[in-house]
Amino acid sequence: MTELTDLEFDLAHIWHPYTSMTQPLPTFKVKQASGAMIELEDGRQLIDGMSSWWCAIHGYNHPELNQAVQDQLQKMSHIMFGGLTHDPAIELGKLLLKITPPSLDKIFYADSGSVAVEVALKMAVQFWTAQGQSQKTNFVTPRSGYHGDTWNAMSVCDPVTGMHQIFGSSLPNRFFVAAPQIGFDDEWNQADIAELEQVLKLHHSTIAALILEPIVQGAGGMRFYHPEYLRQAKLLCEQYDVLLIFDEIATGFGRTGKLFAWEWAGVEPDIMCIGKGLTGGYMTLSATLTSKHVAETISRGEAGVFMHGPTFMANPLACAVALKSTEVLLAQDWQANIQRIEKQLQHHLQALSALDYVKDVRVLGAIGVVELNFNVDMKTLQQQFVQRGIWIRPFGKLVYVMPPYVISEQQLNTLLEQLVSVVEQMQEVSA
Ligand code: PMP
Repeated sequence: MTELTDLEFDLAHIWHPYTSMTQPLPTFKVKQASGAMIELEDGRQLIDGMSSWWCAIHGYNHPELNQAVQDQLQKMSHIMFGGLTHDPAIELGKLLLKITPPSLDKIFYADSGSVAVEVALKMAVQFWTAQGQSQKTNFVTPRSGYHGDTWNAMSVCDPVTGMHQIFGSSLPNRFFVAAPQIGFDDEWNQADIAELEQVLKLHHSTIAALILEPIVQGAGGMRFYHPEYLRQAKLLCEQYDVLLIFDEIATGFGRTGKLFAWEWAGVEPDIMCIGKGLTGGYMTLSATLTSKHVAETISRGEAGVFMHGPTFMANPLACAVALKSTEVLLAQDWQANIQRIEKQLQHHLQALSALDYVKDVRVLGAIGVVELNFNVDMKTLQQQFVQRGIWIRPFGKLVYVMPPYVISEQQLNTLLEQLVSVVEQMQEVSA
């Protein structure tokens, strides 16, 4: 039997995200990455437009983040969190409470974004059962949302583009309301919140919480919506006794131009999930934060405890690098930097809106989105991007970028010039 090359082995045996094992998409082997550059095995250099799916906000191989991991490694890489605690968890906690909504006071460290969402949903259910309201176990969420791939996280993802079609009745039924339609900068119209009001009015007695991604619906369509939606949603939650959960896993740590997206509306949730950029993309860690009121109510319930406790809870390496990453972010004029990226994105991408097969071009903070009228051929497009020395992974009708904040003006210019050129050449494909 002839030996497989590394790439052949990868193709034959290793599953990649959302791929088939009979018709896998090609993968590119990465040798190393540094700053905003990814170096492939064959020496090709790619400018990163993805921040490894929102995470690597400071780019790759960051000296201070590397050092934080190395320092912690000398002490311990992991220790169980049951009955034990440590500096990285405590120091990170102190910093997180300073930068998240003032009413949030308790932190639950979890392993990934999806688990943070599971934890948030469980908190909401325990909050109501602790008060004798054990019928309040369901959730309401806007369509076009995305909250992760674990079971209950899947159940609150968009029912059409999400997992419901595949997993069918094995997923619990949730209440879905229309996705917010009014754009971030458009004029607010109360009709945008009407369906949510209706559903809460009719079903609040069985609903534990409203869960949504504030301002930016990410993987469910890269949609930016009006901050007033959040203010109105909060009022409705108060009126109908339903908790409000913000999933800031993608929007956190400066990506939208605010440190967290709730700040655009000034609306505080009862529970908030963070992840991704939390560790600067070094390793997986998330946190679910909640108010004293929610936490104390849960703790007074029959169970007396919050029922969750992952093995790798508050992993010290992850907490140490998260602390450093957040310090590095806060120590710089990150707002000015995000504005610089935003201006460049607007400057380059606007031109594409003139193309008849481009449905919309939108930019918010360090997120740039080109929405087409047709689904892209991911395989071909990805190869074209790589040939041009840039790393962008489109999906569905969307070609989008969210570069690491360390990307230089010149690197970003090149990235966007190449992106624009590839999208312009799609004319031939679409014609
Ligand atoms: N919520 C949102 C808003 C996300 O964007 C994601 C990841 N794309 C998740 C939850 C799930 O996070 P993870 O992939 O770390 O489980």
